[in-house]
Amino acid sequence: MRAQPLRAAMRFPKEVRTYCPRCRAHTVHQAVLYKAGRRRTLAQGQRRYLRKMRGYGSKRKPEQKEFAKTTERQVVKLKCTACGYVLHRSLGRMKKLEIVERV
Ligand SMILES: [Zn+2]
Repeated sequence: MRAQPLRAAMRFPKEVRTYCPRCRAHTVHQAVLYKAGRRRTLAQGQRRYLRKMRGYGSKRKPEQKEFAKTTERQVVKLKCTACGYVLHRSLGRMKKLEIVERV
Protein backbone atom coordinates (compact mmCIF):
# COMPACT_ATOMS: atom_id res chain seq x y z
CA MET A 1 0.00 0.00 0.00
CA ARG A 2 1.30 3.43 -0.85
CA ALA A 3 2.29 5.79 1.95
CA GLN A 4 -0.32 8.37 2.87
CA PRO A 5 0.09 11.56 4.88
CA LEU A 6 -1.18 11.19 8.45
CA ARG A 7 -4.59 12.70 9.10
CA ALA A 8 -6.29 13.41 12.37
CA ALA A 9 -9.45 11.44 11.57
CA MET A 10 -10.38 9.58 8.44
CA ARG A 11 -13.97 8.93 7.46
CA PHE A 12 -14.98 5.67 5.83
CA PRO A 13 -18.41 5.02 4.28
CA LYS A 14 -20.77 2.53 5.98
CA GLU A 15 -21.50 0.90 2.64
CA VAL A 16 -18.97 0.41 -0.14
CA ARG A 17 -19.15 -1.35 -3.47
CA THR A 18 -16.04 -3.51 -3.77
CA TYR A 19 -14.80 -6.87 -5.03
CA CYS A 20 -16.01 -10.01 -3.23
CA PRO A 21 -13.74 -13.04 -3.85
CA ARG A 22 -16.59 -15.48 -3.19
CA CYS A 23 -19.07 -13.83 -5.54
CA ARG A 24 -16.20 -12.98 -7.93
CA ALA A 25 -17.91 -9.66 -8.59
CA HIS A 26 -18.28 -6.19 -7.18
CA THR A 27 -21.03 -6.16 -4.56
CA VAL A 28 -22.19 -3.86 -1.77
CA HIS A 29 -20.30 -4.42 1.50
CA GLN A 30 -21.16 -3.26 5.02
CA ALA A 31 -18.18 -1.68 6.81
CA VAL A 32 -17.51 -2.26 10.52
CA LEU A 33 -14.45 -1.20 12.53
CA TYR A 34 -12.23 -4.16 13.43
CA LYS A 35 -11.42 -4.55 17.11
CA ALA A 36 -9.07 -7.15 18.60
CA GLY A 37 -10.93 -9.86 20.53
CA ARG A 38 -10.75 -10.58 24.25
CA ARG A 39 -7.84 -12.78 25.44
CA ARG A 40 -8.90 -16.37 26.00
CA THR A 41 -7.66 -17.61 29.39
CA LEU A 42 -7.64 -21.24 28.27
CA ALA A 43 -5.50 -20.66 25.17
CA GLN A 44 -2.14 -22.51 25.37
CA GLY A 45 -0.04 -19.38 25.21
CA GLN A 46 -2.07 -17.66 27.90
CA ARG A 47 -1.90 -20.73 30.22
CA ARG A 48 1.89 -20.90 29.73
CA TYR A 49 2.18 -17.16 30.43
CA LEU A 50 0.10 -17.39 33.61
CA ARG A 51 2.11 -20.40 34.86
CA LYS A 52 5.34 -18.48 34.28
CA MET A 53 3.97 -15.45 36.12
CA ARG A 54 3.16 -17.46 39.28
CA GLY A 55 5.22 -17.21 42.45
CA TYR A 56 8.23 -15.03 43.12
CA GLY A 57 10.50 -13.64 40.44
CA SER A 58 10.32 -11.23 37.58
CA LYS A 59 7.78 -10.92 34.82
CA ARG A 60 8.04 -13.10 31.77
CA LYS A 61 8.34 -10.12 29.46
CA PRO A 62 9.34 -6.55 30.31
CA GLU A 63 6.47 -4.09 30.61
CA GLN A 64 6.39 -1.75 27.62
CA LYS A 65 6.23 1.83 28.79
CA GLU A 66 7.51 3.86 25.86
CA PHE A 67 5.90 3.62 22.46
CA ALA A 68 7.52 4.82 19.25
CA LYS A 69 4.25 5.23 17.40
CA THR A 70 1.35 7.49 18.34
CA THR A 71 -1.02 6.04 15.77
CA GLU A 72 -2.50 2.61 15.12
CA ARG A 73 -3.10 0.73 11.92
CA GLN A 74 -6.84 0.79 11.37
CA VAL A 75 -8.68 -2.15 9.83
CA VAL A 76 -12.26 -2.29 8.55
CA LYS A 77 -14.26 -5.48 8.23
CA LEU A 78 -16.20 -5.54 4.98
CA LYS A 79 -19.16 -7.92 4.87
CA CYS A 80 -20.64 -8.83 1.50
CA THR A 81 -24.40 -8.23 1.57
CA ALA A 82 -24.95 -10.87 -1.13
CA CYS A 83 -23.14 -13.89 0.41
CA GLY A 84 -21.97 -12.79 3.88
CA TYR A 85 -18.25 -13.20 3.17
CA VAL A 86 -16.15 -10.99 5.48
CA LEU A 87 -12.89 -9.50 4.32
CA HIS A 88 -10.50 -7.28 6.23
CA ARG A 89 -9.01 -4.19 4.71
CA SER A 90 -6.10 -2.36 6.31
CA LEU A 91 -6.21 1.39 5.80
CA GLY A 92 -2.81 2.29 7.22
CA ARG A 93 -1.88 4.41 10.20
CA MET A 94 -4.14 7.16 11.48
CA LYS A 95 -5.21 8.65 14.78
CA LYS A 96 -8.86 7.88 14.39
CA LEU A 97 -11.16 6.17 11.91
CA GLU A 98 -14.86 6.96 11.69
CA ILE A 99 -17.49 4.91 9.90
CA VAL A 100 -20.00 7.38 8.50
CA GLU A 101 -23.20 7.16 6.47
CA ARG A 102 -21.87 9.20 3.55
CA VAL A 103 -18.39 10.59 2.94
ZN1 LIG B 1 -20.10 -12.04 -1.85
